[in-house]
Amino acid sequence: MTSLNCTKCRARPSVFYRPYSGERLCSSCFRTSLVERVQLSINRFGMLEHGSRIAVGVSGGKDSLTLLHLLKQIEDTTHGSEIVAVTVDEGIRGYRDEALGIVERACKSMGLEWKLATFHNMFGWTMDELAAQKRELGACSFCGVLRRRALNDIAREVGADRLATGHTLDDMAQSALLNILRGDIGKMASLDPGGLSSPGFVRRIKPLCEVPERETTFYAYLSDFEFQGAACSYAGEAMRGDVRIFLNEMEEKHPGTLFTTFSTSLKLIPAAREAGLMKACRVCGEPSAGELCRVCQLLPGVSRGEAGKVPR
Ligand code: SF4
Ligand code: ZN
Repeated sequence: MTSLNCTKCRARPSVFYRPYSGERLCSSCFRTSLVERVQLSINRFGMLEHGSRIAVGVSGGKDSLTLLHLLKQIEDTTHGSEIVAVTVDEGIRGYRDEALGIVERACKSMGLEWKLATFHNMFGWTMDELAAQKRELGACSFCGVLRRRALNDIAREVGADRLATGHTLDDMAQSALLNILRGDIGKMASLDPGGLSSPGFVRRIKPLCEVPERETTFYAYLSDFEFQGAACSYAGEAMRGDVRIFLNEMEEKHPGTLFTTFSTSLKLIPAAREAGLMKACRVCGEPSAGELCRVCQLLPGVSRGEAGKVPR
């Protein structure tokens, strides 16, 4: 055995180094470790019950496809839940259209049911049309709010009792820090990886919450599945990008920073929960933290003019 052999099995050469734990893993032990990590998170945060019907939000990127692959393995052997993949087409030319083909092929190869919803059909706007309008908020603010609603609706439609999303440890840490930077402590409650059952909402779970993005990327690479690598053309608008760069630098200098940020946010959840009570939106009747839900707050503020209309 050389010092570069896998620190778990000690038999095969290592191909992946984890700075935060000091482990060097061979491809087989790395893959097994991710399945075990996700299984542990599912149990730790009480995400599933036997016989759950899970709608898995799959965008076609490496994180959501890794989630789909891992959940399929776990559910085939343990909880015996049903999985249905759900995708939202925001209407972003040259970006989402490529991803849809990837998701369709992935679901077919895994023998999974797949359901697609579009912004255009649900809200009367594509993301390209919304982005072309005069607006105070960045494109991602619209997109995030509408996608959240669309995913909830589609999960309800397929009769799911859980909605699993591919948020990684990096996403969780970024959201925690963003909430602090924006002074939005009430939003910390939505960071509970086990989700919350509330009327009108399909319980959202985040099984990859303890898996760094670097590891979902390596898992996708090792598994050799097709995924979308291109970034969305509106991505640069988000404040999240700055937080991501900052956290990545911190993680590099101080391994474990992402885990610490995430676990700190978990401690703030009970206080955040006490602060917020959900009610029905006075316009559309959907669950909302205030009188008007975010969708009804955002959409009427966009004036549809021919000049801003993007041709399909
Ligand atoms: Fe939507 Fe922004 Fe993501 Fe693009 S980068 S898909 S606009 S949230
Ligand atoms: Zn090994």
